[in-house]
Amino acid sequence: MTLDFPPWLIGLFLFLLGSCVGSFLNVVAWRLPFRGQPVSFGGRSGPLTLSWPPSHCPNCKQGIKPYYNIPILGWFMLRGRCGHCREPISLRYPLVELAVGLMFLSLYLAYYHTALTQRGFVSLAHGGPTLALHLLYVVILLAASAIDADWFEIPLVLTNVLMAAALVWCVLGRQPMLPQVSAAGPWGRMALGGAVGVVLSLVLLHFKLLPRSFDSEHSPLGAEPATPKANGPDNNPMAADLAEGGPPAYLSRRRNKLALAAVAALVLLAAAAWWRFAGLGAAAATLLAAILIFLLAVLPQRQQADAVTQTVTEESESPNARREAGKELLFLLAPVTLAIVAALAPLPLPTAGWLDRLAGVLLGLEVGGLLVWLTRIFGTLALGRVAMGLGDVHLMAAVGAVVGAKLVVLAFFMAPFFALAWTLVCMLSRRVQVLPYGPWLSMAAIMVLLVGHPLWHWYMTVAFGASAAHRAPAAPIHWPGEPP
Ligand SMILES: [Zn+2]
Repeated sequence: MTLDFPPWLIGLFLFLLGSCVGSFLNVVAWRLPFRGQPVSFGGRSGPLTLSWPPSHCPNCKQGIKPYYNIPILGWFMLRGRCGHCREPISLRYPLVELAVGLMFLSLYLAYYHTALTQRGFVSLAHGGPTLALHLLYVVILLAASAIDADWFEIPLVLTNVLMAAALVWCVLGRQPMLPQVSAAGPWGRMALGGAVGVVLSLVLLHFKLLPRSFDSEHSPLGAEPATPKANGPDNNPMAADLAEGGPPAYLSRRRNKLALAAVAALVLLAAAAWWRFAGLGAAAATLLAAILIFLLAVLPQRQQADAVTQTVTEESESPNARREAGKELLFLLAPVTLAIVAALAPLPLPTAGWLDRLAGVLLGLEVGGLLVWLTRIFGTLALGRVAMGLGDVHLMAAVGAVVGAKLVVLAFFMAPFFALAWTLVCMLSRRVQVLPYGPWLSMAAIMVLLVGHPLWHWYMTVAFGASAAHRAPAAPIHWPGEPP
């Protein structure tokens, strides 16, 4: 079945869909960390959910008229102020909506109208499911980044949904760009053995046969804490206001104007890239512009949340950090042992497409999670203070499950460059800010969707010569019924 909509219409639809999703993302980013907390609104009290209380002005409690809820435009129609009491509304909302809209558009253009089309994006039936999974991936990474930037916490529900989606997709059928590795080969057996080990460790952890690290603070792979650590409304004097009122970023007129000028420049640069050299490069430029707009919208929060920064800094200097890191090594004992055993001892595994795809997802999940976890454990052992959060471990495991082992490694090594760039900006603007690592991992993980394969190929050529790069080429994908 082929749906013959003109590309511009599909592009426009995805941009609008993205901006609506961005609008929902704003709600998720502010409410998810406080889910279930008692609030009262309109004479009723109950637990805070994603849909209740309805969106309202935090100052005068008036509801927002439906037509002002139009993504991006609503903020401009209101001129950035509440229609009733003229209380300023944060510029963060329309910027996040614009960023998500641009990301949806750039992925669609990249997959269906650049060289990537050759990799199987020929119709909405071929490649459409991959695009859908990648759009979900982008949204979850953005939500995790926004929450991490505000509260130094990544809700595990987000990463769990992403891992579950990757597992469901791999069973659904063959689609381009989804991870795949031969289940009968050593890598595939290693992935399957490691997964059995993870399940075993989780069971042991559940029955308390393995110790839980940082038991009093937060738990690895266990039930997620009901409130963000140490900064629920009770602990943080600002949190209650923030949870209700939303982000106070860019509220002065001058700063709003500066931010809007920067956004306009980024959008123009992305458009110029299409005009000048179309193709994958232009799509990647659009994606990068959208990432920068998102960071611009989300990051300046830190100034307001100094109290959170301080709590997190104190927490990471836990006196028992080294001992707790040792407990996490114990958790990894079974998965690593079983992965090695499975890789060395060939088992008769059936040859099936779904098993290869499952092995691909599991390998990516394990490689992504293990990279960050080992960095965390050995960083903590070396420094005596907690290096990287367990949220980052889950985040990269979920990223690996979607993009596979190769690209998750690439994203892990790209992330420091994003972080370094931000540090330089902070140094230039003389604002020293402590930031969690989640946003940098996420932004790198989004960029690898488009630049991952070319970058990997380039790196292999530079590091190991042309022969190595050609030995592991980006395998061409041929679909049944298509000319090879
Ligand atoms: Zn108001």
